[in-house]
Amino acid sequence: MTPAVCVQDLSRTFRRGRGSPPVQALRGVSLTIAAGETLGVVGESGCGKSTLARLIVRLDRPTEGSIELLGHDVTHLGGGDLRRLRRSVQLVFQDPYASLNPRRRVGTTLEEVLKVHRLVDSAAERAERVEELLVMVGLDPGFAQRYPAELSGGQRQRVGIARALAVEPSIIVFDEAVSALDVSVQAEIINLMVALREKLALTYVFISHDLGVVRHLADRIAVMYVGTIQELGTWEQVADRPVHPYTRALLSAVPEMRFDGEAGAAEAPVLGEIPNPADPPSGCAFHPRCPHAVERCAEEPPALRAVAERLVACHRAEEIGAR
Ligand code: SF4
Repeated sequence: MTPAVCVQDLSRTFRRGRGSPPVQALRGVSLTIAAGETLGVVGESGCGKSTLARLIVRLDRPTEGSIELLGHDVTHLGGGDLRRLRRSVQLVFQDPYASLNPRRRVGTTLEEVLKVHRLVDSAAERAERVEELLVMVGLDPGFAQRYPAELSGGQRQRVGIARALAVEPSIIVFDEAVSALDVSVQAEIINLMVALREKLALTYVFISHDLGVVRHLADRIAVMYVGTIQELGTWEQVADRPVHPYTRALLSAVPEMRFDGEAGAAEAPVLGEIPNPADPPSGCAFHPRCPHAVERCAEEPPALRAVAERLVACHRAEEIGAR
């Protein structure tokens, strides 16, 4: 079956200004997401997960590598082809308020999307579709008359999701989409995402710094650090028996998922600063913070390879995984 998303050796390098050193936000990331699957992408701020999100929806171009969506190579699309691509893949941001025009009523914002993509012909059909979209995300149709400032954070995010659904996409990328919400509202929005995924057979890429949130909907999880994938596997494999020291440290910081290892000794939470992506550490980028680092770790970057039914980038994966 054709995967929904297939990225190969994806890299993205930025320059902050003339003469400044290049920042490799993403370094050789490869992954495949099956149709109907939800991939959770986790890691600390600056690990490259938002860059990956922007590349998948082609809001940005990779420096190297390729992106296939639903079997089509979209790496170099532009113009009308890129606009048509937007119907297949949508991005929902952390702060829908920033992406909603404060002077436009919710209904007008949704109608605008329908107009731009020429999805319905008449004003009556547009109004009907707006009503349908609002109901789909659990809002009363009367919300069409409201302005963004009249909505709560959760209601705004529902509008953000309705706007994404307006073009009937196959893939939705959520970039920290519930991070700014209260825990109870987060749970409501996640339940909505799960219900919509089942009803509309959607594929999700769910990007978050919070493993506790990702666990509610991810089938598989990719753990990122300084622009590379460190561990990739099913939620059960990675969360129940993490191998990479960085994954273990991240899990130990989530109280309700505290990873205690076989011997009952918790992995220490990750210490120290995230490295500067303009000047990443040599070898394994995690080595300055890793409690298991040996000499080789500072010299040789570990390859992402199969260990214990998942992929791990760690020289000592077998040893650490056996503990
Ligand atoms: Fe730690 Fe070395 Fe594994 Fe990197 S390669 S995670 S430094 S043990």
